[in-house]
Amino acid sequence: MPKTNDRRPATEQPSTRIGYGFDSHEFHAGVPLKIGGITLEHDKGLCGHSDGDVLLHAITDALLGAVAAPDIGALFPPSDPKWKGADSVIFLREALKRVHDAGYAVANIDASLILAAPKIGPHASAIRTRVAELLGVHCDRVGLKAKTPEGLNLDSAAIAHVVVLLQRSPQKHSRTKSR
Ligand SMILES: [Zn+2]
Repeated sequence: MPKTNDRRPATEQPSTRIGYGFDSHEFHAGVPLKIGGITLEHDKGLCGHSDGDVLLHAITDALLGAVAAPDIGALFPPSDPKWKGADSVIFLREALKRVHDAGYAVANIDASLILAAPKIGPHASAIRTRVAELLGVHCDRVGLKAKTPEGLNLDSAAIAHVVVLLQRSPQKHSRTKSR
């Protein structure tokens, strides 16, 4: 049986790892709507302790989960006033750094957004481009679907589900901490 404190070198780590992230936030009037790192024109925005970017939070948790790191709530606790109104790009960058430090690179991600409004279709290309840029991959590695919450009676919130596949990075798997 492998021990939970397994610290074998990355060369013995699996060549791929999968991560899954989920998030939800409530809509409130008078708040800017940020999804996937871009601001969308809408009369309501998603409320959270940070900027409420439901998609970036789910991607962040998927990345963290893939390398078995603590989740977004543990790394950036809502109880810490430091993160009030924070740009969620900060969270994503930290998660990506942990992925790279663990010796992995993003192969692709696939995301589903569930929300009644606004329509994501017209913004999907901009969101995919921004997310790809943040992850340092081509936008053909970023899948994005938007669903209306059929039968869920859910007008007041947005939900995001994300899966990410990592592949071992050939040059970086024994990266040392030189800070
Ligand atoms: Zn969130």
